[in-house]
Amino acid sequence: MTIHLTAGQRALLKAELELRQQQLSRQLEVHREGRSRIEHARDVLSQDFDYAPQRAMDREVDMALSEFDTQDLAAVGRALARVHDEDYGLCVDCGGEIPFDRLKVEPQALRCVVCESKREQGR
Ligand SMILES: [Zn+2]
Repeated sequence: MTIHLTAGQRALLKAELELRQQQLSRQLEVHREGRSRIEHARDVLSQDFDYAPQRAMDREVDMALSEFDTQDLAAVGRALARVHDEDYGLCVDCGGEIPFDRLKVEPQALRCVVCESKREQGR
């Protein structure tokens, strides 16, 4: 068995993942707080006017954004849980090694560049 990532590289990626986890949680929190403030302001305004269509649209955009962050956060959490597993850093599709340079940019990556682009084309 070859060791794909050294203990030092894993430690570095783990630190990177933890940082992202913190940033994403904070982002989601700010997002939620911001939304309740905006909604309150609109509620005050909508006593005179009907802002319902605009409000529904904003809410949709908000929800899409939060969902993206939530999914990202889940992916980071999963990567953190398996950062010391043997198969961390191996492509889930072809089993090939994901280069450390790619993991540094995207430590939660599950696929090598080749499989990732194949997947995106397949969509
Ligand atoms: Zn692959």
